[in-house]
Amino acid sequence: MIIVLRKDATDAEIEHVVEKIKNAGLAVHVSKGKERTIIGAIGDEEKLASLPFEALPGVEKAMPILKPYKLVSREFRKENTTFNVGGVVIGDNAVRVIAGPCSVEGEELLIETAKSVKAAGATVLRGGAFKPRTSPYDFQGLGLEGLKYLAAAKRATGLPLISELMDPRDVEMMCEHVDIIQIGARNMQNFRLLKEVGMTKKPVLLKRGLSATIKELLMSAEYIAAQGNSTIIFCERGIRTFETATRNTLDISAVPVLKEETHLPVFVDPSHAVGRWDLVAPVAKAAVAVGADGLMIEVHQDPENALCDGAQSLKPGKFAVLMEELKKVAVAVGRTI
Ligand code: PEP
Ligand code: MN
Repeated sequence: MIIVLRKDATDAEIEHVVEKIKNAGLAVHVSKGKERTIIGAIGDEEKLASLPFEALPGVEKAMPILKPYKLVSREFRKENTTFNVGGVVIGDNAVRVIAGPCSVEGEELLIETAKSVKAAGATVLRGGAFKPRTSPYDFQGLGLEGLKYLAAAKRATGLPLISELMDPRDVEMMCEHVDIIQIGARNMQNFRLLKEVGMTKKPVLLKRGLSATIKELLMSAEYIAAQGNSTIIFCERGIRTFETATRNTLDISAVPVLKEETHLPVFVDPSHAVGRWDLVAPVAKAAVAVGADGLMIEVHQDPENALCDGAQSLKPGKFAVLMEELKKVAVAVGRTI
């Protein structure tokens, strides 16, 4: 149930509505916007059936939410949600680009990459310290050492950081080092992990699972929001299909579908979608054209010798060219980069 308060509702009136919901045994989520306050009642709506919310002082209207995802739905919040990540606003008119290597391999190399992606216009640095590899014999990431190199790259460039969390036991360590926590495709339905990041205040980038529907992706985000953390970025990164020409198949229409279904920002990761560096640029441009709020692109100084995902990584020079092209696409669709 969504309860929209009148513009002039007082704090006491808001509190009264909150109490009514709590007494019925449901959880409450209060969203105070510029214009008005919206209260979400989370739980079994049947229990609210006998409560005439619209008769309460300060209440403009009460609406049942028909979708299974509530806090993340457009029904709950009509305006786009924006939030600040280390000085960078996510979800506004500017398309934000996250760039950096698949995995952190060394301090100097990372700082060099960070400087070059920043010069090209990227606003967040990526780098995996814990890598979800298909084979246990492949490079698994540098762990805490990698997080320290990321922190050094942030000191050197000022770029906020994103890195993937795979284990609930690492939440605290991750929160200390990064600005955005990434939940990878393989963990999109690791509900324990989702609840853990939901209990933090860190923005979360949630990647779509390898074979997950858009509805399942939204439900996973709801797990995070239900714990109190609504700073979530969706990330379409390609799904498994019968097609083998590319690593995955980018579901380009997922972007406008998500923009319709949720008030939260939607990013696209063209690198993991296509798996080939030469296809990253055209797909990245398509993503901006179709309305993505941001991109996540893998960049490596020396892709041939990368420890992970070299085949899909752009060299800094190619990345800089792409950023220039993306600016034109952004302007064409009424946005900036
Ligand atoms: C990544 O971004 O490093 C990654 C492993 O991506 P995905 O979870 O989308 O496969
Ligand atoms: Mn990768």
